[in-house]
Amino acid sequence: MIKIIETFSPEETFALGKCMGMEASPGEILCLDGDLGTGKTVFTKGFAEGLGVQDDVVSPTFTIIREYETGRLPLYHFDVYRIGDVDEMDELGYEDYFFGNGVTLIEWASLIQELIPETAIILTIEKDPEKGDDYRRITLKPSP
Ligand code: ADP
Ligand code: MG
Repeated sequence: MIKIIETFSPEETFALGKCMGMEASPGEILCLDGDLGTGKTVFTKGFAEGLGVQDDVVSPTFTIIREYETGRLPLYHFDVYRIGDVDEMDELGYEDYFFGNGVTLIEWASLIQELIPETAIILTIEKDPEKGDDYRRITLKPSP
C-alpha cells in the first residue's frame, strides 16, 4: 500500500516523524530517500523525539552511523551519502543494526539498495517548485 502525505513546513515533517517514532516497533527499518535539503534529517529529528531520545540528533554524514540509546528503543541513524562502496557497510557491522531490536533510519538508502531487507519501508521526500519552498510530498511504500 502506498501512502502520500503532504507537508507545508519543517514543523509538519518533524511532527510526522514524531508520530512515526511514537509508533515504531523493534526491528523496523525506514529508508529515507530524497535530494539534499528535502528534509530527511528534519524527519529523523522528529522520529527521535517520538521515540523519547534525549540527545540532540546530528546528521551522521561523516560517521555514516550514529546510535541513540536514550529512547524507548535504540535508534540507529545512518546517512550513507558518503559511502564509497557497500563493503564499508560490512565493516561497520550493519547487520547488527538492521537485524537488531532497535529502529534503523537510513538517509540516502537507495545508494545501498542491495543491502536493504524486504521488510523495509521506503519514505521518499520530494519538493515541487510550483507549490513553494516549504512544500514536501512524502511517499511511504513497501520495499520493492
Ligand atoms: P536532508 O537531510 O534531506 O538533506 P535536512 O532535513 O537537513 O535535509 O534539511 C531540510 C531543509 O528544508 C531544512 O532547512 C528545513 O528547514 C527546510 N524545509 C522547508 N520546508 C520543509 C518541509 N516541509 N519539511 C522538511 N524540511 C523543510
Ligand atoms: Mg540529512
